[in-house]
Amino acid sequence: MKKLVFVAAIASIIMATSCTRTAQRAEADDNFNYHVDRFADIEVLRYKVPEFENLTLNQKILVYYLQEAALWGRDILWDQKNKDNLSLRQLLEGVYTHYEGDRESAEYKAFEKYLKQVWFGNGIHHHYSTDKFTPEFSREFLEKQIASLPEGVVPANTEELLEVIFNPAVAAKGVNQAEGADLIATSANNYYEEGLTQAEVEAYYAKVKKPNDLTPISYGLNSRMRKIDGKLVEDVYRVGGLYGEAIEHIVAYLDSAAVYAENASQKQIIESLIDYYRSGDLATFDKYSIEWAEDTASQVDFINGFIESYGDPLGMRGAWESIVNFKNITASERTEVLSSNAQWFEDNSPVDAIFKKEKVKGVSAKVITAAILAGDAYPATPIGINLPNANWIRAAHGSKSVTIENITQAYDAASHGDGFNEEFVVDAATSELLDKYLFITDNLHTDLHECLGHGSGKLLPGVDPDALKAHGSTIEEARADLFALYYLADAKLIEIGLLDNPDAYKAEYYKYILNGLMTQLMRIEPGKDIEEAHMRNRKLIAEWCYEHGKADNVIELVKRDGKTYVQINDYEALRRLFGELLAEIQRIRSTGDYAAAQALVEGYAIKVDPELHREVLDRYSKLNIAPYRGFVNPVYTAVRDEKGIITDVKVDYSEGYVEQMLRYGKQYNGLK
Ligand code: ZN
Repeated sequence: MKKLVFVAAIASIIMATSCTRTAQRAEADDNFNYHVDRFADIEVLRYKVPEFENLTLNQKILVYYLQEAALWGRDILWDQKNKDNLSLRQLLEGVYTHYEGDRESAEYKAFEKYLKQVWFGNGIHHHYSTDKFTPEFSREFLEKQIASLPEGVVPANTEELLEVIFNPAVAAKGVNQAEGADLIATSANNYYEEGLTQAEVEAYYAKVKKPNDLTPISYGLNSRMRKIDGKLVEDVYRVGGLYGEAIEHIVAYLDSAAVYAENASQKQIIESLIDYYRSGDLATFDKYSIEWAEDTASQVDFINGFIESYGDPLGMRGAWESIVNFKNITASERTEVLSSNAQWFEDNSPVDAIFKKEKVKGVSAKVITAAILAGDAYPATPIGINLPNANWIRAAHGSKSVTIENITQAYDAASHGDGFNEEFVVDAATSELLDKYLFITDNLHTDLHECLGHGSGKLLPGVDPDALKAHGSTIEEARADLFALYYLADAKLIEIGLLDNPDAYKAEYYKYILNGLMTQLMRIEPGKDIEEAHMRNRKLIAEWCYEHGKADNVIELVKRDGKTYVQINDYEALRRLFGELLAEIQRIRSTGDYAAAQALVEGYAIKVDPELHREVLDRYSKLNIAPYRGFVNPVYTAVRDEKGIITDVKVDYSEGYVEQMLRYGKQYNGLK
């Protein structure tokens, strides 16, 4: 589901900022250095690829070719995000590599920070806010550097690029979602030619979309739109079309990969993807997506293509991305056990029986190890994926839901010792509980949310699925979170072997309430409301339980030395509150009770207490924890014998952030 990658993206930030970790895990990580770089609001980490060496040689070679296919798409994404991104990168990297002045000077440092931000954003806009980066060096400084560059390094449109960098009015917002604005005319992405308006584009699709189509293609997913002689046309991304040069490289590596496919259906999947890249035909993309969704047998898996559409304010055009991964077989037993008990969880939930599903299917879910992150999934990455996006394919052929555990593990380990617990957790006993059980209960929370939570319950006959309108996604996320929270404390999890201590759930309960009431506020600017649906959902749940438990002092805000701490006095009562709220939220969803949804969201989820907000920001600022995190990739090298045949694939983790960015820019320069 589109939402889920978004959930994941948000969750990854939450993990990065407010998560505590398990001591055992961190210690088991021996001397692996997770920290790579720190600048602006970003921390760059590295991740491990455990068990890669235990894959078969065929699987390793398959991963090797797929990760090459992944890296070759990088420049497509850069160009999709803004038409000047690639020439701007060429200019900035030229200056960076030819610089001969003082590398300690303030202007140079500011320039370097800007370049690191641009790399992280895959262009001139922040990956999350999509605001344009503001340079802290002068135009004179950059002009002076450009003047001394050798020929061939300076792009032809340098004057224009200087405007893009220094004029705040030019390309100010990557993706504009502001109500009332012309979303296309005011967004600086490159999915639509400059000068097109939202009305024109909407009129175009109103015409081409077939009415009452039960299996619609994903209109606009793989094309850029422009106008010729007053008529709108789609420039399709394909071999021989737009981005053809880069796509040819991708196809060449997919071709090599197909030879090493684990089984006939995986080979077919790769071939369908190649057909789609050659033809640009979206019906072929659907064929590929169905085959991909139905393949649950292969251990190595990948996504590669134009997938998520958050970068298009109209939500149609797909940003290029790729993740190559393999199933973590031990950890996947967890999600398989949950899925196979799906009916028990449905039957025993505190929800009114008329809203329950008589027959519930657990979503096919697995835990994976990412081997490479690319395109829109790099350097900032989701911690989970749920695809394909087409609703009719999901309904008829299923979907895959995955948790990327080597990424969550890296967040977890990298957070160890960052001072978060010491600053925000109420006492040593709670800190210890978090150290011991948060990693496992946090992962279980995600599993329960994804495998069972979203799939539970049903709408009453005749209820419009969109009845909750703007509050729909907040309520839906709250429903899945509450389902997970309620069951985390259930003896069933011990019975089926997923937890070994009846108190373990308290770790996730504590973190959830602390995050919902306080620490997630660190990502909100002073004076602003909470807007994002997942943040609203967490606040809704935490505030509602705080209010409704007040008479019994279930959750207490304790003051010490002018600082506020969350203290949970009665965990069992908190579980009952989660159950009560779950029952009510399910009723709202099942009956489409818009007024009740609105009252809950407006009453608990949006408004921030300015005093507490200020306090949280102050306390965070002293910790120097980056609000956003991302990753460098490991480097894969094919070991070949004298005949050129691959005999092994080696993984190396030593590459740094700047080195990797410069190397990718040179090596995978697919759109010269
Ligand atoms: Zn969700």
